[in-house]
Formats: sequence, structure tokens, C-alpha cells
Amino acid sequence: MEPNYLLQVYNLKKYFPVKGGIFGKVIAQVKAVDNVSLEIPRGESFGLVGESGCGKTTLGRTILRLIKADEGMIFFNLPPELQTHVKELMLSKSEKDKEELKRIRMKYDLVMKKEKALMPYKRKMQIVFQDPQSSLDPRMTIKKLLAEPLVTHHLVETREQLEKRVLDLLESVGLKKEHLHRFPHEFSGGQRQRIGIARALSLNPEFLVLDEPTSALDVSVQAQILNLLKNLQKERGLTYIFITHDLSVVKHMSRRIGVMYVGKLVELASVDELFDNPLHPYTKLLLESIPIPDPRKRKTERKLLTGEVPSAINPPKGCRFHPRCPYAIEGLCDRVEPPLIDVGNGHYVACHLYAKR
Ligand code: SF4
Repeated sequence: MEPNYLLQVYNLKKYFPVKGGIFGKVIAQVKAVDNVSLEIPRGESFGLVGESGCGKTTLGRTILRLIKADEGMIFFNLPPELQTHVKELMLSKSEKDKEELKRIRMKYDLVMKKEKALMPYKRKMQIVFQDPQSSLDPRMTIKKLLAEPLVTHHLVETREQLEKRVLDLLESVGLKKEHLHRFPHEFSGGQRQRIGIARALSLNPEFLVLDEPTSALDVSVQAQILNLLKNLQKERGLTYIFITHDLSVVKHMSRRIGVMYVGKLVELASVDELFDNPLHPYTKLLLESIPIPDPRKRKTERKLLTGEVPSAINPPKGCRFHPRCPYAIEGLCDRVEPPLIDVGNGHYVACHLYAKR
């Protein structure tokens, strides 16, 4: 059966230069996203987890081309016959295949597209921010906030159509007609996030990056927003990247999970596989660190993630987790970077402990 990917990302890199000295020369690079590859089937919810500063938000924004990638490829809605073919071409050493890959990239790769050519893609790919307060213009009523993208992209022809679309959007996120003429500050945090979601949906996207959409909300409201996002995904056939540092939230929301550490994807598996059989020492410690309802239970068994996340400026050599890893192998982990390998059952891990010997 042919794959049905909505999104294919290969070897993506985003480094931010650090300038210093009196001439403002580039003295270092923050390796925020470093050689990340992932494929997301249409309709999937893919969770992206890791501690703050691991690069998950930068990865989400780079995929949306809110930030321009330095290297790599991003394919969105690639024709089905090319989805496997590009991977074969990437592996090939033949000059003819390299030329063909270049031609395909020129036509489809978002990394290579100029800003103007990105417009049709940007309509299909939207983001919901963590803090709706900062993403909603406080001077605009909800009606104006929801109407603006529809007018800018010429998606409606008459005033009646505009009013109907705005009302449909509002109702789709559980708000009512009487809310239309209010300003963002007149809403609760949960309601503002509903407005942020409605705005992201206004252009009928196929793909949403949900960047910590519930982490600024009270626990009781979080569940309502998560359920709303789940229902919208089902109704509209949406594909999500769900970014969070909260593993219990990602378990509820995702089918597969990618774990990031200092700009690298270190483990990728289905939700069940990752929670039942975590392989990477970092993932194991992350899972052990999830708060449990009764802290007295299993107190002696629980290991907690200790030590600081290293800086993405000059990250540690070899495996980036080695300074914090209880299983680090001296002379190997501090020297050789482990590749992401397939250990079967759709499970990938970047750790020397699982390399075939
Ligand atoms: Fe630990 Fe080595 Fe595996 Fe890195 S490669 S996670 S340091 S055992």
C-alpha cells in the first residue's frame, strides 16, 4: 500500500547565529534543530515532547516556514507517487537521481520556496499558540479577528457569506453569537484559546501545529480544550503536531510521539510502544518524572531526571545526553553520535545501547 503522508521532513536544520565582539562577528551557533527527520500520515496527531529549550517549538515553526530552515527538506501534500520515490532518490549516489531530486525539490520543497510561493501552503498550515492573549489583537472584536483572515485571503464574496462563516467558526469552538462583539480581554483563558483555535481554522487548514495549547490554562479547562481539539480533528480530518512538555497530555492526544533532546529527535514510537517500552534513557527518565497522584507510592522505585539541559550552543560531543545519562559508555557515548535506528514495530531510537553489534 502506498504511504499517505501529509508531511515529510528530512534532515531539517535550524541554527541561530550568536554574535559577539566589537564587530558583531558570528562566534557560535545555537543548534536549535539539528538534522531532524519525520513523516506524518494524513489525519495523524503526532506528539512532540521534551524539556524546554529542546527545540520542539523551533521545529514546529520551521516546518510552518514561520522561520526559514538552514538545510533540509519539507514536503507538504507531496503527490502519492513521489512520497516513497524522494526517499529512494535521497539514498541514491547516482548523478541522475540527484538531478531528479533537485527538480522535485524545486517544485515541492517548502525550504526552497520564496515567500510569495508559500502563500497557498501557509493557508493549509496553521498554528495555535500557547498564549492566546498575545496572539489576539486586543483592539479587535472577536468578529473582526475571525473575519480578517477570510477577507485577506478572499474566501468570501458577500457580507452575508462573511457573517455566516464567522458565526460557524465561533460555534464550531463552542462559543455563541453574543460573543461576537466582545474584545479578547472580556474572555477567560479557556475562551480565548477557543478563539485562537477558531482563528487558526478560519482558512480551512489541513494541518495544525498546536504549540503547548493548554499549558497556560487551569487543569479543569485543559481537558475541555483537549476534547475540543480531538473533536475538531475527527470532524475536519485534521493532522496535528502537538507540542508539549507534559507527557500525560501527549498520551491523551497523540498516536505517535517523538522525543526531542537538545535539537535532536532521540526516540520515536507509537504512544503505546513508547509508554510500555521506552528505550532511550532520556525517555525513561522523562516518564519516571511524571507526577503520580500519591507521591508516597513507588517512592523508592522512582528515578528523577537530574542535571541541567546542556546549551544548544556547542552541545556535548557524541551523544548529547551523555553528561546526564546513567548508562553512558565511556569512550563511545562521549565521542560518537548515535544515529536514529529502526528497532522494529515502528520504534526508532538514537542510543548506542541498541546498536546492532
Ligand atoms: Fe546514554 Fe550512551 Fe545511549 Fe546516549 S548513547 S543515551 S549516553 S547510553
